[in-house]
Amino acid sequence: MNIHEYQAKGILEKHGVTIQKGIVAETGEEARKAAEQLNKETGTEWYVVKAQIHAGGRGKGKVKETDSNGVVLAKSLDEVSPKSEAILGGTLVTHQTGPEGKKVNKVLIAQDVYYPGENEPKEYYIGILLDRATGSNVIMASTEGGMDIEEVAENTPEKIIKEWIDPALGLQGFQARKVAFKLGLEGDAFKGMVKFIYSLYSAYEATDASMFEINPVLKTSDNKILAVDAKVNIDDSALYRQKDIAEMRDITEEDPAEVEAGESGLNYVKLDGNVGCMVNGAGLAMATMDIIKLSGGEPANFLDVGGSANAQTVEAGFRIITKDPNVKAILINIFGGIVRCDRVAKGVVEAYKNIEGLDLPIIVRLQGTNAEEGAKIIQESGLKVTSAIVLKDAAERVKEAIG
Ligand code: GDP
Ligand code: MN
Repeated sequence: MNIHEYQAKGILEKHGVTIQKGIVAETGEEARKAAEQLNKETGTEWYVVKAQIHAGGRGKGKVKETDSNGVVLAKSLDEVSPKSEAILGGTLVTHQTGPEGKKVNKVLIAQDVYYPGENEPKEYYIGILLDRATGSNVIMASTEGGMDIEEVAENTPEKIIKEWIDPALGLQGFQARKVAFKLGLEGDAFKGMVKFIYSLYSAYEATDASMFEINPVLKTSDNKILAVDAKVNIDDSALYRQKDIAEMRDITEEDPAEVEAGESGLNYVKLDGNVGCMVNGAGLAMATMDIIKLSGGEPANFLDVGGSANAQTVEAGFRIITKDPNVKAILINIFGGIVRCDRVAKGVVEAYKNIEGLDLPIIVRLQGTNAEEGAKIIQESGLKVTSAIVLKDAAERVKEAIG
């Protein structure tokens, strides 16, 4: 699960990570009040207005309606409201949102931390993520902060420092010092970075996160180390014991079809093709997507109904798949092991009848327990449903259906 920057910063601060302070706002007036409050707390006279959406690249992104960037600087209290209003309610398009963009419901009003001083402020990158290849967490760091880190990794991989953490030992003091040293820091900034990495790692562990990405981490002109941005991903399987974080979920940021699927216990991912599919088991779902491609179609989705392919789940699956106007046919591929094919067939027929206006060709391939009985039920239903027992036949039927 992803959370917003302001929520992530709240978690960081709770674990002792120093952050660029901010207050979230939903209207221009709230934004001004937030800025006044920040002025009282930190003495800052410049403010940063930051769109809160679950996507990065906001600084360079543009709000469609107003042409404002998603992160802007306000150089006086009076600028805060109008600059916030140019973002709030708008649709922000960044290189991560796709051309349709994301609606902005909240902005974070933050203190300006790039103030001038003894040194130039300097941006770094620090990320912690789970490295599945080694089964351990890895800290990634770079002097190339503020930039697209994928690009840095691609073009100048030597500029990415990696430090793997032994799961039995946890983060060792020398490792945090090694990273800070390799970033070329010294004095207070070195000490600040060691503490930053330490606190960040403890926040990561305490929240069952699978990714923390702080880009940029800023060394201020007076050598403080601060998190300016925060992208956090929490392992969904741990949300049952991370109740505070589970409450931070913002479903307006998620794909509505995926939210509906989750509520029905289905595993659904929307894709761009023309053939919808419904399958029991993730492995079979992937094989089915390959079959759709071989038949000349493109999968419109990934949908795993899990172990329970009954009338309710099939109906929920139909409803979700048919929301997508690109779908020209639906392939149902069920392997009957524990679930009996005749019951699945009845479920399909029932669900088809229950959904008003459903007129798509549906190809059902049932294999396993009671497959023959299942095929018979489908054939005798009189609906626009054809059945196949061999996968190759199913692919042929799909080809016919999409023309
Ligand atoms: P992202 O574009 O979605 O990654 O959003 P960030 O939070 O990383 O902010 C984007 C950029 O805004 C940063 O790289 C900075 O250059 C700039 N920025 C953020 N905070 C401040 C600030 O306090 N003062 C100034 N002058 N610029 C800031
Ligand atoms: Mn950023």
